[in-house]
Amino acid sequence: MIIIMQKDATQRQVNNVVARLQQMGCQAFCSEGTENTVIGINNHQHKLNQTVIENLPGVARLMPVSKPYKLASRDFHPADTTISIGNLTIGANHLTVIAGPCSVENKEQILTTAHAVKTAGAHILRGGAYKPRSSPYAFQGLGEAGLELLALAREETGLPIITEVLDPETVPLVRAYADILQIGARNMQNYSLLHAVGEAQHPVLLKRSMMATVDEFLMAAEYILSHGNQQVILCERGIRTYETSTRNTFDINAIPVLKEHTHLPIFADPSHATGKRSLVASIAKAAVAAGADGLAIEVHPNPDIALSDGAQSLTPPQFTELMRQVQKLAAALEKEA
Ligand code: PEP
Ligand code: MN
Repeated sequence: MIIIMQKDATQRQVNNVVARLQQMGCQAFCSEGTENTVIGINNHQHKLNQTVIENLPGVARLMPVSKPYKLASRDFHPADTTISIGNLTIGANHLTVIAGPCSVENKEQILTTAHAVKTAGAHILRGGAYKPRSSPYAFQGLGEAGLELLALAREETGLPIITEVLDPETVPLVRAYADILQIGARNMQNYSLLHAVGEAQHPVLLKRSMMATVDEFLMAAEYILSHGNQQVILCERGIRTYETSTRNTFDINAIPVLKEHTHLPIFADPSHATGKRSLVASIAKAAVAAGADGLAIEVHPNPDIALSDGAQSLTPPQFTELMRQVQKLAAALEKEA
């Protein structure tokens, strides 16, 4: 259920509705629209006395939201959400590119990549310090030493940094270094981790699980939003299907579907979606054309010796060429890149 306030409702009237909802045992969230304030209720709807709320001063109407997610839905928040990181704005008419290696491997590797992607026009540097690997014998990341190298790369280039956090216990440490916390596909339904990043009040990029439907993806986002963190970016990174010619199947439909259902910024990761360097540029451009607000691309100075995901990593010259094309595409779509 959402409560739509009248256009001229005062802050006092909004506060009064929120207070009455809380007295009934409901949790209320306000969304300030351009036209009017909308109040969402995300729990204990059975406790709601609709008649009492309908008759409070300033209330225009109550509207049931049929979707299981409320705070993530466009009904609750019709305008696109934007997220600010320093001077950078993510969402609405901005196209944002995240680039960098799959894993932070050493100082030279991350600094070389950071400078190369910055020169090419990327906005955010990526790099895993804690890696969720299918094999326990594969490189697991440098841990905090990797976070320190990312911070050094940010200092040298001015690029904000994004890195994955694997468990609730490490959220405070990763938050202290990273501008955006990444939740990986394997952890999309790790509810204690979603709770922890929700409490962290820090931007989060949530990747779609390889097995999740769009509704399950949005419900995972709802966990973060319902803990009071509104700074959530969704990232389509391919799902698992019967097709074996690519690492995953990029669900291009998910981009306009998500844009219809949610106000959150939608990114695409063509690197994990394809698993193959030669396919990354095509899928990156397709995602932008389909309406993605951003891209996440793996780039490595020497992919042949990468400790993870070398086969899908672009070289710096390949990334530079892709950025040139993406910038043209953004201009054609009247987006700022
Ligand atoms: C990654 O971004 O390096 C990664 C592990 O991605 P995903 O969680 O989408 O597999
Ligand atoms: Mn990777």
